[in-house]
Amino acid sequence: MEQRNTPQRQAILKQLQGRTDHPTAETLYAELKPAWPHLSLGTVYRNLAQLCRNGQARKVLGDIGADRYDPNTMEHHHMTCLHCGGMCDVPSPIAGVRGAENFRGEIQSMEIRFTGICPACKMKERAAKTTDTHRVQNILFSEGEEL
Ligand SMILES: [Zn+2]
Ligand SMILES: [Zn+2]
Repeated sequence: MEQRNTPQRQAILKQLQGRTDHPTAETLYAELKPAWPHLSLGTVYRNLAQLCRNGQARKVLGDIGADRYDPNTMEHHHMTCLHCGGMCDVPSPIAGVRGAENFRGEIQSMEIRFTGICPACKMKERAAKTTDTHRVQNILFSEGEEL
């Protein structure tokens, strides 16, 4: 396995850094392809795997669709949105898992995966319910569209 910091890997890392939408390899590939016409999806997968090994990213298993990648390697949890299929971070006050103290192996990290409705979808849902149509129109709808 080559360890060089290739320009492609730098581009992939740059594309991933600072994001909270947990893109899939396919998403990153589609975004990078115009600037890197010779890039292959396999190269994106290989470089993402290397970034994960380097501790520069982590792989998050998605409930819906493919694996996703996260530049935030701090311990946090994820929720898959049942409305839009997106994945958002869930900061959790849960310090441990009940029963984990009886586990005979060695737990090294913990991640809880939630499913539910993401903040963006929840905001749309709330806005759709509210009677304050002026506010709703400001939040959600392009001008001229009636509720
Ligand atoms: Zn959503
Ligand atoms: Zn995350």
